[in-house]
Amino acid sequence: MTTEIRERAGKSKDIIKKDGKTFFEFTNRTTAFDGVKKDEFAHKGEICCKLSAYWFEIMESEGIPTHFRAFVPPNTMEVKHLEIIPVEVICRNFVAGSLLRRHESGDAVPAGIEPRLGAKILDPIVEFTTKFEAVDRPIDHEEIMKNGWLRREELDSIAECTRKVNNIMKRRLSDKGIILADFKIEFGKNSAGEILLADELGTPDGCRFWDLDSYENGEIVSLDKDVYRYDKGDLSDVYQRIYQRICE
Ligand code: UDP
Repeated sequence: MTTEIRERAGKSKDIIKKDGKTFFEFTNRTTAFDGVKKDEFAHKGEICCKLSAYWFEIMESEGIPTHFRAFVPPNTMEVKHLEIIPVEVICRNFVAGSLLRRHESGDAVPAGIEPRLGAKILDPIVEFTTKFEAVDRPIDHEEIMKNGWLRREELDSIAECTRKVNNIMKRRLSDKGIILADFKIEFGKNSAGEILLADELGTPDGCRFWDLDSYENGEIVSLDKDVYRYDKGDLSDVYQRIYQRICE
């Protein structure tokens, strides 16, 4: 008899351990504002799983190691077992979200950045936030190292890898008329201590996607979870459309 162990991995995914293998199941659960807003949307899990598989395969082909092993239709992927590094990595090409909120509550934005929704950031920023606290907060390199989560050279290599992932996604999305405004990624370590790209990738849950034509006409049209966060449209419709634009 095979036993299956299921546990929650973050707010929208489950981890399943079965026959010595590890699987990520992408559910339809949707949350925003650190879990304050919660709902379920049809097909969301399937779309985010297929998009992640699509992007992980691209990263592997570009020489970036990931935890992806295989897509298991409709909404599951087999992954390599990793110990997740307890920080989230955020990369920003345009001003939005918490960067703007931090500025509005008195924090200075990094030099050279205009604190306006939609302003382009010429030299993309890579930032870290906590992962396992009730509310994510920005964390600096010193605190990450003091907690023993990463060494300096590991932090540097994660930042460099994040910039590579950014360049690969940004270029491919721009060919499809989509701006990658910002995104969040996670990394994990395997038993040999190697750092691999983990979690999910290039989904509308973890990225801000904006329609390029609309942006050039002075309007920000969100093709991501902001439609749910700010009640700007039907999430299932928007996710289906972004999936088709990226993958078909
Ligand atoms: N993000 C995410 N999970 C989080 C926090 C952020 O996927 O727990 C993504 C978010 O969708 C956006 C990017 O990371 O694409 C930057 O998010 P930001 O820090 O601006 O915070 P938010 O406005 O999402 O609260």
